[in-house]
Amino acid sequence: MPAPLLDLTGQVAVVTGASSGIGAATAKALGAAGAKVVVNYHSDEAGGQKVVDAIREAGGEAIAVGANVAHEDRAIHLIEAAREAFGTVHILVANAGLQRDAPATEMTLDQWNTVIGVNLTGQFLCCREAIKEFLRRGPQPDVSRSTGKIICMSSVHEKIMWGGHVNYAASKGGVMLMMQTLAQEFADRKIRVNSIAPGAIRTPINKEAWETPEALEKLLKLIPYGRIGETEDIANMAVFLASDLSDYVTGASLFVDGGMTLYPGFQDNG
Ligand code: NAD
Repeated sequence: MPAPLLDLTGQVAVVTGASSGIGAATAKALGAAGAKVVVNYHSDEAGGQKVVDAIREAGGEAIAVGANVAHEDRAIHLIEAAREAFGTVHILVANAGLQRDAPATEMTLDQWNTVIGVNLTGQFLCCREAIKEFLRRGPQPDVSRSTGKIICMSSVHEKIMWGGHVNYAASKGGVMLMMQTLAQEFADRKIRVNSIAPGAIRTPINKEAWETPEALEKLLKLIPYGRIGETEDIANMAVFLASDLSDYVTGASLFVDGGMTLYPGFQDNG
């Protein structure tokens, strides 16, 4: 049983890009905390269904909904599908994201547009639709102190510039100001908007950074806490931000990075 303020019973959560990695772990954690979960997947329907099955096996309720969040009609459909299945939405985790890496001089417009389209525009479209649904439904103080909660999946690269990944860093920098602006715009309607800024988390997106001992050793030099992050580290923060335990937190980027943003190179005097 979750602690009372962490209990999400009676709430509906939509998690985008939830067929793998951070999204899958977050969907399961929100389900375990009592939320009904809409598991969004892009093309991996079987992966999405696996997450749904895991939530149901643990005693929760979940459905899978396919949608490319970069497409406006599909983002609208996603929130509509949640409403149809469970009546409304209380929590959005805008998590879907990807990388298309290249040196800036070789980066194609397609690589640029794809990353901005999913990581920034896709998050905006899902946020916009979720906020419309929060406002339509209005407050439910017996369910949660906030009328709605949004958690944007950002990155340490909203703060740390990243050569060879200018599209990705720009998308996450954009997420930061989008999140802060939405938080400012809707705070008086009791909608909380925050970001999680993960460091290096063991998922498919950054496999080459941890799959060999040599790569892992190089990566660990950037992490003062001395270990790579696991998807549960992020999922735990998402449950906190979705719950009334964080009721006074809005407009914040919460770094979950084992100290990656603490300039580890300066630990021994630089
Ligand atoms: P992942 O590749 O396992 O997850 C990304 C998910 O997004 C996948 O399920 C993918 O299918 C989905 N997706 C991609 N394009 C989509 C689209 N158009 N519509 C819907 N879904 C789409 O990797 P992850 O590490 O779990 O990434 C999740 C989020 O965390 C991303 O936003 C990523 O930028 C962010 N992040 C990850 C790390 C890390 O170290 N793993 C660090 C910082 C930020």
